[in-house]
Amino acid sequence: MILRMMVLVVAAALCPWPAEAQVTVPPGSACVHDIRPGPGVTSTKMLSVWAPALAYTPGDTQVYMLDGKEPGGTVFVAGGTHGNEIAGIVAAIVLVEHARIQKGRLIVVPHANNSAITDVDPERPGPSSIVVNTPAGDRTFRYGSRRTKASHQGAPDPTKYIHPNPKSTEELPGTEARNLNRAYPGVADGTLTQRIAWGIMRLLLIENVDVAFDFHEAGPESRLA
Ligand SMILES: [Zn+2]
Repeated sequence: MILRMMVLVVAAALCPWPAEAQVTVPPGSACVHDIRPGPGVTSTKMLSVWAPALAYTPGDTQVYMLDGKEPGGTVFVAGGTHGNEIAGIVAAIVLVEHARIQKGRLIVVPHANNSAITDVDPERPGPSSIVVNTPAGDRTFRYGSRRTKASHQGAPDPTKYIHPNPKSTEELPGTEARNLNRAYPGVADGTLTQRIAWGIMRLLLIENVDVAFDFHEAGPESRLA
């Protein structure tokens, strides 16, 4: 009980909402969340393991490794590319807390853009968090923005943003420079959004990921729906 209380105090020092820290995160760096790894989790790391330029930044984020007993393929799942798409975040958290791997390996990043979760989306403002009542008490899940927080980016938004894919000629609003979904393959020492994208790409390559899922969602009023 004492250990649990200490963990809660550490988490409260890092984030403006109650959370249970499961990873030792240096003060002043990434936010941690109410994620309670299940027995399937064999190790927990930070994305900065694959992208050192993310260490001690709000873009660093927890990476959960679930190794099966037998060899097999590697599957990667990311939630939270967009911090206001809470279903993908919670689906990834459900995997961290409940998945059991028999063969191969599952790697889960519930908050791909951990900066976006700390901001309010100016175009689609929502609640700062949602609370789910569970037998273990209330669980609080942060609800954020579609993009990296402007003050975290390390560079002003350009007037127009062109997707880094050389085949793309689409001209986007400058704010899209902070959209992780428009930043791949990323830049090792670029803006915070570029560094996050680069870190995820490095993880996919170094860990020999066979299949990667990036969880998104759309409201019923969206053109995507
Ligand atoms: Zn999305």
